[in-house]
Amino acid sequence: MTTSPPKIFVHTCCTACLSHVYSQLKLAGFEVISYYFHPEIGSQEEFDQRLADLRTFCEEHKIKLVIAEFQPQEFEKTIIPFKDRASLKFINDKERYRRRRCQICNSMVLQKTIEQAKKIRIKYFTTTLLCSPYKDHSQIIEISNEKSLDYSLNFYYEDFRKGYWKGRNYGRNHNVYLPTHCGCLESLKEKRLE
Ligand code: SF4
Repeated sequence: MTTSPPKIFVHTCCTACLSHVYSQLKLAGFEVISYYFHPEIGSQEEFDQRLADLRTFCEEHKIKLVIAEFQPQEFEKTIIPFKDRASLKFINDKERYRRRRCQICNSMVLQKTIEQAKKIRIKYFTTTLLCSPYKDHSQIIEISNEKSLDYSLNFYYEDFRKGYWKGRNYGRNHNVYLPTHCGCLESLKEKRLE
C-alpha cells in the first residue's frame, strides 16, 4: 500500500523563491500547497504581477494555490504609529523602525499562514521568506517556532537562502517577474534611495 506524501502549506512571496523552495520540499517528500498572502504589498500592480507568474508556475507543476486577496489596509494601519511623530510608539531611528516594521510584517504573514493551514488541516508549514538573504532570517525562525507551538503545527525549517540565486536564475530563464524590493511601499522607497 502506498501512502500519500504529507502536505505542507507554503507561504509564498514570489515565483523565483518558490521555484527553489518547491524543489527542496519535493526532495524532502512533501506535497506543496502554495499560499499567496501579501498584506504588506501597497500596490495592486505589484501584487498582480507576482501573482500572474505564480499562477503559471503552480499550473505547470500541479501545485494547489491558495490566494488571499489584496488588502493592504491592515498592515498600513498597524505600522502608522511607528512612523507618526505624534505617537508614543514613534521610532526615530531608521534601523530600529525597519526592524520593528519587518517584525510586524513577518508576524502578520506567519500568523495568517498558520491559521489557514490549521483551517484546512495541514500539519506542516513553511515560508519562502526563508529563501531571501535580505530578510531577518532568525526573526522569521523565532516567530515561526513560537506560533507553531501555539497552534500545534510543525514548522519546517531549511536554510533556503542557499538557493536564492538559483531561484533568481530560474526567474530570468523563464521570463518571470523578479521583484526588486521586499514588498511594502517603505521598502520600495528605501530601494530607490540606495
Ligand atoms: S521591508 Fe519587507 S519584511 Fe520589512 S515590512 Fe517591508 S515587506 Fe515586510
